[in-house]
Amino acid sequence: MPITCDTCAAACCRLEVPCVGADDIPAHLFAHLTEHDAAGHRRMRRLDDGWCAALDRNAMNCGIYPYRPLPCREMAVGGDECLAARRALADEVGPGLP
Ligand code: SF4
Ligand code: SF4
Repeated sequence: MPITCDTCAAACCRLEVPCVGADDIPAHLFAHLTEHDAAGHRRMRRLDDGWCAALDRNAMNCGIYPYRPLPCREMAVGGDECLAARRALADEVGPGLP
């Protein structure tokens, strides 16, 4: 079966996503969706279930798509990171997802 985001439970939206420099999301709009790590670097905030705070939970896709950070824009469908994220999610929640 071809790998497509349409049938994926947003596995890559459980990764740590740094927000850096000019590629940062607009802080004045989305400060509530980010946090700082122990070293003081800004990153997307993740909720207790592991998914990004910006995820649209109904559609299971990005709720801030036009403003998503660079790592999200560079995520290649079917690439190594994508496949690893999908495997990690499947290992965590069992067969059937993503
Ligand atoms: S893990 Fe891959 S298939 Fe799933 S949403 Fe991300 S890019 Fe798309
Ligand atoms: S910003 Fe959007 S694409 Fe990036 S991890 Fe969060 S929900 Fe996913």
